Amino acid sequence: MKTVREDGPPAGADPDVARRGEEPERGGARTIIDTRGLAKSYKRVHALKPLDLKVSESSIFGFLGPNGAGKSTTIKLLLGLVKPTAGSGTVFGRDITAGGVEIRRRVGYLAQEPQYYGHMTARQTLRFAARFFYSGPESAIERRVSETLRLVGLDDRADRRIKGFSGGERQRLGLAQAQVNEPELLILDEPAASLDPMGRRDVLAVIERLREERGATVFYSTHILDDVQRVSDAVAILKNGRLVAQAPIEELLTGGTGSAAVYELVLKEGSSGGLNEARERLRAAPWVSSLEENPENGRARWLVGVTDEDAAEEGILRLVLEGRGVRVASFGRKRRSLEEVFLGLVEGGSRDAG
Ligand code: ADP
Repeated sequence: MKTVREDGPPAGADPDVARRGEEPERGGARTIIDTRGLAKSYKRVHALKPLDLKVSESSIFGFLGPNGAGKSTTIKLLLGLVKPTAGSGTVFGRDITAGGVEIRRRVGYLAQEPQYYGHMTARQTLRFAARFFYSGPESAIERRVSETLRLVGLDDRADRRIKGFSGGERQRLGLAQAQVNEPELLILDEPAASLDPMGRRDVLAVIERLREERGATVFYSTHILDDVQRVSDAVAILKNGRLVAQAPIEELLTGGTGSAAVYELVLKEGSSGGLNEARERLRAAPWVSSLEENPENGRARWLVGVTDEDAAEEGILRLVLEGRGVRVASFGRKRRSLEEVFLGLVEGGSRDAG
């Protein structure tokens, strides 16, 4: 799944710089966004503290943080719209300070509150945006506009005036506008923040479709955890201008490598008992680092923190079932919700679910 630019490198591009920055990483996708110590202060406000961020090609990257965390500032820096006070960064291997114009040409950007001419229709708006970039024949523009309308699910409303559009339809039009020129990278600033749950679901579905059908890389900011959990494959979390986590989403939710994994067991005790002995056997295992118990409707729910996943997957059930009187209703690795991870990081809680 690669975004292929049919028109080759833009005129005036320095092929050496482009190549250096766009070399595939060893064993993986190209890095599309790469920042090193990138920072921005406004007088006494440290809007963004030194940030090291890496975004791979074809990922949907959720940039998460509460309001005021520095998300928009980062986006403006990446687009070369504001100048960093320290550090540096590249997008497509282009320096964000020197190469802003080219970066903006190759990025589709959706601002927090896109503005439209209400008397225009969706099709006219897209035609206008497409003409701005496309120099090809009129028929190619029309084809591209129709394709884009279909992609965002506005084909049946293409010729209505925008002023009658719902919030969700306006955001989908914004997505259409951002990608009518087939950009390699979409940067979306809070694309779903102002929408109701249905509008949000539609916008997220469009984002997924963009990746599936176009292989586009999507970098989007949000303060809504649910959205990130639903569509992202990598996430960075920002708090007070500082990066507090950056990882593939699976890694964040399962505890990741290096930190303790947690397994969840739901147990039933027979009339002759057996839970106490099972607990003792587990506690004695050298790879068990914690055991938390919660009674639940006559059953016991145990969270077992471990330092060795292989040993745990081989040993937990064996140890629990070794004696008599205990039945296992369910067993599995516990996935944390992003909310738990986020609150743990953002509120400074150090507990790592085990
Ligand atoms: P977010 O997008 O995560 O809500 P912002 O990047 O907009 O956060 O803002 C981060 C911090 O920088 C906030 O404290 C905000 O008030 C401050 N800030 C942003 N832009 C400016 C500016 N032009 N002048 C002064 N302070 C700013």
